[in-house]
Amino acid sequence: MYCKNCGQEISDNAYVCPNCGVRTSNTAEKKTNTLAIVGFVLAFLIPIAGLICSIIARKQVAERDEGGAGLALAGLIISIVETCFLVIYIIIYVALVMAAVSAIPDTLLVALSAL
Ligand SMILES: [Zn+2]
Repeated sequence: MYCKNCGQEISDNAYVCPNCGVRTSNTAEKKTNTLAIVGFVLAFLIPIAGLICSIIARKQVAERDEGGAGLALAGLIISIVETCFLVIYIIIYVALVMAAVSAIPDTLLVALSAL
């Protein structure tokens, strides 16, 4: 390829032009996908929303050749982990409530219902 700055022929794999020092298109920074950032942040706040955003972001990154694939993947994994934890918490909570209710003596329930 040729340097876009000075026109010197340079290696296709070069990151900077050896002649003028200007960065080549190999180092052109990809625009980070906005949804990947949103999905990553939401993964911590609202896991389900983070999961959806990250899935869409991954598709967009692939389609548009944008940056942020790693971020979208991180958002995806964090969302899934957070969702699993949430489900486990709910199951534990329900189990505890049910255990607490069943631990209340029947006589007390009868007494309470009489109030
Ligand atoms: Zn150059």
